[in-house]
Amino acid sequence: MKKFLIAHHSAIPGYNSQFEQIDRIHKNKNFPFSQLEYYGGYHYLIEKDGSVMQYRKEHEMGAHTVGEGANYNKEGIGVCFAGDFTREMPTKAQIVAWKNLGVEITIRWPIEKDKILNHRDVKPTACPGYDFKQELLDHLDMIEGPQNSFIRTWVPTFAQQLSIAYKAIKRVTNPIRKRALERKIKRLERKVGDDKNDVVIW
Ligand SMILES: [Zn+2]
Repeated sequence: MKKFLIAHHSAIPGYNSQFEQIDRIHKNKNFPFSQLEYYGGYHYLIEKDGSVMQYRKEHEMGAHTVGEGANYNKEGIGVCFAGDFTREMPTKAQIVAWKNLGVEITIRWPIEKDKILNHRDVKPTACPGYDFKQELLDHLDMIEGPQNSFIRTWVPTFAQQLSIAYKAIKRVTNPIRKRALERKIKRLERKVGDDKNDVVIW
């Protein structure tokens, strides 16, 4: 059961394709081997060119956040951005990828807005350097508002969000998560109304 979404940076400045380097560093730290056969402690890495790479399945235990208040490695999905954002800015491609991935994850589990965190929210650290949390919160506010097609990032319509939720609920066994998803589906069904033509049932 995942209820947190936590943003990190790699603190490695400058270049793209950090996936293997981070995997080696985490292997040397004896981080747990994932079902996808990596050691990287995050669930995802967003490279500078916007590629979304995956170290472990979302339901797996991570190794990215030890902090006050919860077992964030057990209950959190860790997303790392390639770069050192105490001294450089994320690329536009990274921000676009984050918005798309963040929308999917927050619908899929679902994850409440106050459980979207920067690493520094739960531990004294500079990580992730840039305020990725606020970037995603602003995007979520925007897609829940009046639908606007003049935005360059992917803005899923309510029908598309409902499609993701219908797909997700078929695989849910945890009763708490199931109830949360059912509430989310009810809210989305009200927004979609009678116009269900765009809703895909997998
Ligand atoms: Zn971090």
